[in-house]
Amino acid sequence: DAKENGENQIGFFRKDIEEKAFKKLKLKADLERAILNKKFIPFYQPYVDKNKQIVGAEALMRWKKDNTIVSPAEFINYLEETNLIIDAENQLTDSVLKDLKELEKHHKDIPISINLSALSLNQKDLVQSLSSLLNYYNLKPNSLKIEIVERVFFKDFAYMKNLIEELRELGVHFSIDDFGTHYSSLNYLSELDVSFLKIDISFVRKIQTDPKTKNLVAAIIYLAHSLNIKTIAEGVEAKEQFEILKTLDCDYFQGYLFYKPMPKLEFFRALR
Ligand code: C2E
Ligand code: MG
Ligand code: MG
Ligand code: MG
Repeated sequence: DAKENGENQIGFFRKDIEEKAFKKLKLKADLERAILNKKFIPFYQPYVDKNKQIVGAEALMRWKKDNTIVSPAEFINYLEETNLIIDAENQLTDSVLKDLKELEKHHKDIPISINLSALSLNQKDLVQSLSSLLNYYNLKPNSLKIEIVERVFFKDFAYMKNLIEELRELGVHFSIDDFGTHYSSLNYLSELDVSFLKIDISFVRKIQTDPKTKNLVAAIIYLAHSLNIKTIAEGVEAKEQFEILKTLDCDYFQGYLFYKPMPKLEFFRALR
């Protein structure tokens, strides 16, 4: 009867909730162990200029789990929720700087960008620790770039503006990631010392089919250039997208059409 049914339902939901909670605890334990064992590694995805020459690369976090490679969609939110992202990003930064040093030795110095979460950006010793790392590895200035998603700039604009200024003094450049996905105040663009703006994949996807999107991208590129900011198109998959973006005077291009994210050794090979 109805009452019994209801009780069963509640029992079912409780079981469901317990299972979810258990899964989360297991994931947390797995992630903590992964940090201890240094299992967060960078994959590198180059970006290219109009002649398809590699001019830089982005380090994207991967979790080396048993014999598989796990993508950020599976764990990044949870790393943030548990604050573990700070350790994971510190490890990743260290790996990237080591790799940059190795590349420099082989006269293959190109800039590499890391993605930093709001939590990492709010570490109070961030400038100090990046500064000592850069000193320790004695890297050329301009080797390291930091990508920050648009929405993070707004959370505490004054803080971010100041942080960027301090890190710019060390030679670190900044990119606004996934540009256009948040409510952008055009005003903040002129106030932040950012060097690159990454046009979000959602625009690139529609650029061949939707004239309004194309106009919007043209305006974004024009605006960026008028502020002395270079543009990078994300997620370029089709030749036609590349051609259109070139006519709009986009500076750099990143996407499967050119390179997918790849492990370090493959990346080093691609640079040869
Ligand atoms: P993102 O920084 O915007 O990076 C671009 C994402 O698009 C990457 O996914 C990349 O593999 C993917 N991508 C590149 N080209 C193409 C393309 O042509 N087509 C399609 N469909 N996708 C393309 P990935 O590596 O799975 O990373 C997803 C997101 O996870 C990143 O987006 C970034 O927001 C986040 N992430 C990655 N590593 C880190 C990290 O170390 N720290 C933080 N906070 N976030 C990270
Ligand atoms: Mg990025
Ligand atoms: Mg992006
Ligand atoms: Mg994106």
